[in-house]
Amino acid sequence: MSNNLKRKIKRKKLLKDEKKAEKELQNKISNIFLPDNCSLCNKVFDKKNRDMAMNWMVIAEGETKALICPSCWEKSNKS
Ligand SMILES: [Zn+2]
Repeated sequence: MSNNLKRKIKRKKLLKDEKKAEKELQNKISNIFLPDNCSLCNKVFDKKNRDMAMNWMVIAEGETKALICPSCWEKSNKS
């Protein structure tokens, strides 16, 4: 097997793993109970949106979970 071919196969496998990890992440997110809106400005949080899931902050206070959108998070960090 040529090195070139090996590399190609490796890359394919990596891509597959990445896809799997993404799916797992999405499952994890949808399994955790989260509010549907930003707790401060009521902006809608789309649980299926990966970017949102990565950027929004979840603050847990006991049983209560607050969800903070990036812009509110920025504001609260500045003040
Ligand atoms: Zn907000």
